[in-house]
Amino acid sequence: MSTLALAFDLGGTELRGALIGRGGEVVARVSEPTMTEAGSEAVIGRIIALADKLLDDHPQAKVIGIGACAPGPLDPKAGIVIGPPTLSGWHNVPMIDILSRQFGLPVRLENDANAAALGEWRFGAGRGAGSLVFVTVSTGIGGGVIADGHIYHGRRGLAAEIGHMTITGEGDRCFCGNVGCFEAVASGTALGRRATRLTAPGDGSQLRRLSNDGDVSARHVVEAARTGDAVARDLVEAEAKWLGVGFTNLLHLYSPEVIVMGGGLANGFDLLAPGIRATIEERAMQAYRDVPIVPAELGDRAGLVGAASLILWEGEPGTALAMVQND
Ligand SMILES: [Zn+2]
Repeated sequence: MSTLALAFDLGGTELRGALIGRGGEVVARVSEPTMTEAGSEAVIGRIIALADKLLDDHPQAKVIGIGACAPGPLDPKAGIVIGPPTLSGWHNVPMIDILSRQFGLPVRLENDANAAALGEWRFGAGRGAGSLVFVTVSTGIGGGVIADGHIYHGRRGLAAEIGHMTITGEGDRCFCGNVGCFEAVASGTALGRRATRLTAPGDGSQLRRLSNDGDVSARHVVEAARTGDAVARDLVEAEAKWLGVGFTNLLHLYSPEVIVMGGGLANGFDLLAPGIRATIEERAMQAYRDVPIVPAELGDRAGLVGAASLILWEGEPGTALAMVQND
């Protein structure tokens, strides 16, 4: 059997594990609720149990290491999960130490958005690019930057926290405490909140019908826009504009060859793309305007395959193109 890596994607709600091959193929996959309230020790105990299960079910597997990803802030070099807002009770947890001691295998740790960026770059929508920015738009906004063939880490691995770049001076307060963060105005949560405010329970609107008169979510907005609902279409247009503003900043900052958009809102990518493109045309300097903006291809396995590639592709150029450039 060919060489595999164990991969873990530790999310605020779901804990995923997999055995991944060198080509990014998922050989086996397991998941369960994270139950973060049980504390870091209990969650790590369940990561170990999932790893044992994957290894027991595949006794022939030649596993050469463990790649894990978790929400930031996280120090990939020191292997420490510093204290993500979505993982309550996690403070400076030395993941690499714990897992390498448990399994006697090399362990790599990466921020989940960076891991997803790596996954899309090596196996998904960004294959062949020398530089890319991956943006995930769902409950929040996160991102990862591949610059000149490497994840761009910055001090303590904290770079590319793009959800918290300020893009306006008003609006709802972000969970980070600021007003006007990209995430606070353009995440799926922000879109759902705008839709909820624009409508009222029992008003007979398409958006409220889809949400059974509850709070309207971004998914409902996309669904209603697809049926031609005018309110939803306006909301999508405004959302695309905010995304376009943020993406324009990313083009100016990182000059990627491609921006890959993932996350739940990527389900509405076809509806959002014209507005995103128009905003970029309007706001970006000439030299940046022709950069493609494309939807992610790997869905919720991007983080897993990216984390696995930290083990399986260690020390190698990331892409065919990078190899050609390095020759
Ligand atoms: Zn913020």
